[in-house]
Amino acid sequence: MTPDLNISLKPFHFFASEEKSNFFTRIQNENQVEEAVHWCHENNYPFLIIGSGSNILFTKNFTGLIAKMEMMGIKKTNETPSDVTLQVAAGENWHHFVSYCVQKGWGGLENLSLIPGTVGASPIQNIGAYGAQIQECIEHVKAYDTLTQQWINLSNKECGFGYRTSVFKILPNRYIITHVQYILQKQPILKTDYGAIREVLHDKGIKNPSLANVAAAVTQIRTHKLPDPKILGNTGSFFKNPILPKEKYTELEKSFPNIIAHPISDKEYKVAADWLIASCGWKGIRKGNVGCYEKQALVIVSYGIKSGKEVYDFSEEIIHAVQTKFGITLDREINVY
Ligand code: FAD
Ligand code: NAP
Repeated sequence: MTPDLNISLKPFHFFASEEKSNFFTRIQNENQVEEAVHWCHENNYPFLIIGSGSNILFTKNFTGLIAKMEMMGIKKTNETPSDVTLQVAAGENWHHFVSYCVQKGWGGLENLSLIPGTVGASPIQNIGAYGAQIQECIEHVKAYDTLTQQWINLSNKECGFGYRTSVFKILPNRYIITHVQYILQKQPILKTDYGAIREVLHDKGIKNPSLANVAAAVTQIRTHKLPDPKILGNTGSFFKNPILPKEKYTELEKSFPNIIAHPISDKEYKVAADWLIASCGWKGIRKGNVGCYEKQALVIVSYGIKSGKEVYDFSEEIIHAVQTKFGITLDREINVY
């Protein structure tokens, strides 16, 4: 393997800051996965696999090898009267894959329309939106284990999925995902309970929505509410919605009766981090080349940063403000390097 040297990372991530990597390569087949990992072991360099860079923040130059996942292919591996199983290579564009399934009438992914990124990254933080999480459609994940240097299939259970997390997020860089096997429904039960979806379908007078109607509604909501990363660099939600024990939430509600939260079990509440940040006065605030997006306070945007450190420092200020006012420590959802 002969990697490229001293490469600017600017074109490879959505914040488009100007950090560099001293080695860079592209992965188009499984042999290249093994070669890249062995090369790093031999040369004692750190290794980082990336997809489209929509959930990454570089705060300094990367000393090691960055490999961009570009493996392609969608293969039907099984079909029954009720469902279809697809093996999809990690470099496929997520939204293209969702659109392909919607077109075929295979349900399960439609609420996750227009999420940027690659198929291979979909299990990493168990991508979720509008009441759906990808864990509901994953049968297994094929990956190269960089520790044991073996190929493995991780079952849905072994992926350790949770709210915006998985074993892949907990053990970063241990597994290089090359394929994800999804199981999709031929007679899907659509999820239209999420407020914004219901409103759009109602406004359009759609009473019995199709898969395509739901996908179009999600696309419309997202296009309206989220900044276009090509215009304003961003990685979507910068922070996770904090999950609080019911007792702590009840206490908080006494002091802040307008707080927005959703029960997620008998014992826990998920608090809207957007509301917490906005309540601290940060929504729409800009400092230098970084800002908190005016329509959604969870999204931090770049107005032309040079270094990802600018975004990181801005996010520290938000964490501090929320901690001071509510006693809650926000967790970053994005992956910081
Ligand atoms: P990258 O950013 O390249 O990588 C993310 C992490 O995954 C890194 O740690 C990387 O090392 C690892 N990784 C990537 N590929 C592999 C692989 N093949 N094997 C092992 N590790 C890998 N996320 C949601 O969950 N829901 C949303 O609704 C949502 N909306 C968004 C909206 C906008 C405008 C933006 C910019 C982002 C949004 N995101 C959302 C976040 C992001 O799109 C997802 O997390 C996406 O899955 C990241 O894909 P990627 O290919 O860009 O990954
Ligand atoms: P929203 O509708 O303004 O809602 C705010 C928060 O409340 C959301 O984060 C959501 O949690 C929660 N929520 C709303 N209705 C809910 C319900 N019926 N049941 C449980 N929780 C509910 O959110 P938004 O900012 O416009 O985003 C819409 C969806 O897209 C959300 O699911 C969000 O996660 C997703 N999204 C994610 C990213 C990202 O980068 N991760 C970026 C943009 C949008 P959940 O987040 O748990 O759904």
